[in-house]
Amino acid sequence: MVQGFTLLARLDVDRMELGCDQVDIVRFASALRNQMLPQAEAKGITLSLTAPDQAIHIHVNLAHLTLVFRNLLDNALKYTSNGGSVRWSLVCEDQMMIHTLTDTGIGIAPEHLPHLFERFYRADRARLRDVPGSGLGLSIVGAIVQAYGGDIQIESPGVNQGTTVTVRWRVQIPQ
Ligand code: ATP
Ligand code: MG
Repeated sequence: MVQGFTLLARLDVDRMELGCDQVDIVRFASALRNQMLPQAEAKGITLSLTAPDQAIHIHVNLAHLTLVFRNLLDNALKYTSNGGSVRWSLVCEDQMMIHTLTDTGIGIAPEHLPHLFERFYRADRARLRDVPGSGLGLSIVGAIVQAYGGDIQIESPGVNQGTTVTVRWRVQIPQ
């Protein structure tokens, strides 16, 4: 969290280092899924990943990429009850990578959707009494995705009906 705070402070002053690590996004996703598996298994949640077969190299700051998808997976797992499922899909087309994370969790009431990227915002605090969190994760995620010229959308049909997060991130994929 300290790292997140520091980064957010830096984003604030508009000195973001987009960096230039060459990352195979397919391998990255698979490794991150493996890292998150224990958290999923502890709740009996199925965590699946669908991604292209071949390596896809992109230029990105690995720390940013990790912050974004770790936070999104952490949310999906935290806000999904025991026995649910989290599906992560990655598609690359037209110099875009599109990540979709769908969970079968507690969902989000429509009135909260416009506020999720605000700092310290937690939807329906009473319902989240037993779920730890500071409401900062998505503000960091949103700032990073925006800095890369990407787009993030969070949708939910409503309370207890799951949530879908879509990240569209423009990348240079060698043909
Ligand atoms: P932190 O990420 O700082 O530990 P947090 O998870 O509460 O805390 P955010 O990640 O910013 O904060 O999310 C903001 C709020 O959005 C959450 O408190 C929760 O109400 C809602 N939310 C985010 N992801 C989901 C999800 N997958 N399902 C249901 N609600 C979600
Ligand atoms: Mg969070």
